[in-house]
Amino acid sequence: RDLGDERLQSASALSSQGSQTERGKDVTKAERERRSASLGGTTRSEVFQQQQQDRMRYQGREVDIEGRVRLVMESTLTARDRVGVQDFVLLENYNSEAAFIENLRRRFGENLIYTYIGSVLVSVNPYKELEIYSKQQMERYRGVSFYEISPHIYALSDNTYRAMRTERKDQCILISGESGAGKTEASKKILLYYAVTCPTNDQMPALGERLLQSNPVLEAFGNAKTFRNDNSSRFGKYMDVQFDFRGAPVGGHILNYLLEKSRVIHQNHGERNFHIFYQLLDGGEDDLLTALGLERNPQSYQYLVKGNCPRLSSVSDKNNWKVVMKALSVIGFTEEEVQKLLNIIASVLHLGNTQFGEGEEGETYITTETKITNLTKLLGVDGSALGEALTHKKLTAKGEEMITPLSFEQAVSARDALAKAVYGRTFTWLVEKINQSLALKEEIYHSGKGCSVIGLLDIYGFEWETVQYFDNKIICDLIEEKPQRHHLHSGTYNNFIGLSVYDVVSVTVGEDEECLRPGETCDVSFLEKMEDTLGGHPHFVTHKLANGKTRRVMSREEFRLLHYAGEVNYNVNGFLDKNNDLLNRNLKEVMCQSDNQILSHCFRKEEAIDQKRPEMFKNSLTKLMEILMSKEPSYVRCIKPNDAKQPGRFDEVLVRHQVKYLGLMENLRVRRAGFAYRRRFEAFLQRYKPLCPETWPNWHGRLSDGVSTLVNHLGYKAEEYKLGRSKIFIRFPKTLFNTEDALEAK
Ligand code: ATP
Ligand code: MG
Repeated sequence: RDLGDERLQSASALSSQGSQTERGKDVTKAERERRSASLGGTTRSEVFQQQQQDRMRYQGREVDIEGRVRLVMESTLTARDRVGVQDFVLLENYNSEAAFIENLRRRFGENLIYTYIGSVLVSVNPYKELEIYSKQQMERYRGVSFYEISPHIYALSDNTYRAMRTERKDQCILISGESGAGKTEASKKILLYYAVTCPTNDQMPALGERLLQSNPVLEAFGNAKTFRNDNSSRFGKYMDVQFDFRGAPVGGHILNYLLEKSRVIHQNHGERNFHIFYQLLDGGEDDLLTALGLERNPQSYQYLVKGNCPRLSSVSDKNNWKVVMKALSVIGFTEEEVQKLLNIIASVLHLGNTQFGEGEEGETYITTETKITNLTKLLGVDGSALGEALTHKKLTAKGEEMITPLSFEQAVSARDALAKAVYGRTFTWLVEKINQSLALKEEIYHSGKGCSVIGLLDIYGFEWETVQYFDNKIICDLIEEKPQRHHLHSGTYNNFIGLSVYDVVSVTVGEDEECLRPGETCDVSFLEKMEDTLGGHPHFVTHKLANGKTRRVMSREEFRLLHYAGEVNYNVNGFLDKNNDLLNRNLKEVMCQSDNQILSHCFRKEEAIDQKRPEMFKNSLTKLMEILMSKEPSYVRCIKPNDAKQPGRFDEVLVRHQVKYLGLMENLRVRRAGFAYRRRFEAFLQRYKPLCPETWPNWHGRLSDGVSTLVNHLGYKAEEYKLGRSKIFIRFPKTLFNTEDALEAK
């Protein structure tokens, strides 16, 4: 009985809404007003929840704001104290970063990993499987609005989908966050939601499945274990999903960016090469491995041994091998194509095991001659030509062709460059093949009823945060290797410093530039090139001072990047060797004669002749910007709660950094200023009346007329808003933002 009483007591303390005391009433009123200010009134489900709360509190239970029933034990905490608020705009102290983080922490402690900032979804990686992604859950989120139900990636998926359908405008979902924060998992959940809940088109019944199956394939070839993430995406990905006029997925298209090719030849201790190598060795049938001339132990391969990490506790390479092989067949790869693909993967391993020796005259030769037969067979090229091309270089000087021997180091570089090129181009081929399988059929496209698109962006190091950013061509130019030295200002640079140094190398120098030849002087000239490009920028430091003097504490071979979390020095010594992709011409000539069709497709004859790399290999980021700008964006911000990849751990320092560089406090401020999409007439007039001479300083007529006058004056178009009985409903956040801007400018 005692316990029952206590519960009853605590239940009434808990329920701030509907409480009988005078003080309780005040709280209720204040709370309601605040809510209606920010959310535009009480929603149906809030009323429902409240009724349910009233009913249940007498039984010693309560329904929390997530709609879950729980026993009331604590006598002083309110549900809100315990689980936080589901939208940061509801925070009392919305300027306080500490309050923001505390809210995240509380929710994380309750397994509530999603929280909104208005329509932006913040997600904290739980590092454990939560039971919130089932089909039933998907059903719960269909057709409901954000505030009716607890925050979820499905809610964002559904809202985006509905916006596409009702507004007939292409959408994109931009997912950002640091490595291991959960971007790829988020993008997979979105895709799954569409594949499961959308109708199917009779002409493309298997499309949803193929879209889903593209993930294991791309992850096998493009993901790897790193320190920060056991399944880290080592390439950037943008995927379009096309929908027909009925909302059924009918096509897909993937753009891939900046594959980290250097991983093929080198990994840090404790990291791994791309998953596919280990999957093949662990999962491949005996016959297959024999045919490929491979043995099972990953540590037998130079390109795998350095990481010293042949097995992962979190991943079964064997099972994943099966998953990947099945996925390839669902997508429509023929057996022959799969065979050729595996030949290439095996050939990379053999290439890594190709060793060189130095003769008495300083000439370089291959010491693993017997093993090279496997390699040449798998690459489908002429053995002696390959051997020659790995140890010699062909030059054309004054119209004459000359063959010169390579030094030992040069031969090693040539071999590694070949391995990277073979792998990197095969990856691009893989994406092309997947795209063919997902391609929208002409007859659907031309059916006259039109298609709309939802794009998903999962790319490391990029922040498509603000509208200004979209207008900012500088960062694109930087990435496109056309830097404009004096036009870089720090606003853009938070984006830039999010890139890894690997990216800096490929971004700044470009893959095939002439300067890119191994040798120590070249590393320094690379640094000079970086100075030319980035010099004077506050986040980039070298030994050179702006006044032409030298900074003594730094060597000539170093540069320093001022990352958000601190400064990091990088030494350029050996940089280019590691990142050098320049293929000798004779290697290109050998490769383009391969009888493996994938390789002969990837290495074109034209390229061997005129040394230009065909355009097809590069997806420009400027173009991506254009694609994104033509669409209505939604945002998912992923946060990594700890570096140990463990459930239940919330490292505040780490989270604070991310809240900072994801710009979440700014998001919140903008959102607070703009509120949600509906406001009461009085509030709207009160805030914006200075913008119109007829409403300033006071409007004396009917409120609705005042609002009409005001929005007409502001040039709102009919489709941008609606007037209800007591509120104005604004459709696009953009409209409100513009109005806010006007107010600020005043
Ligand atoms: P990178 O930039 O390195 O590719 P990422 O942001 O794509 O990182 P993910 O690969 O999506 O990170 O997530 C890392 C790991 O965290 C996943 O492999 C998974 O174990 C876990 N994880 C992420 N999101 C979730 C989730 N919603 N539920 C359960 N586990 C998750
Ligand atoms: Mg990823």
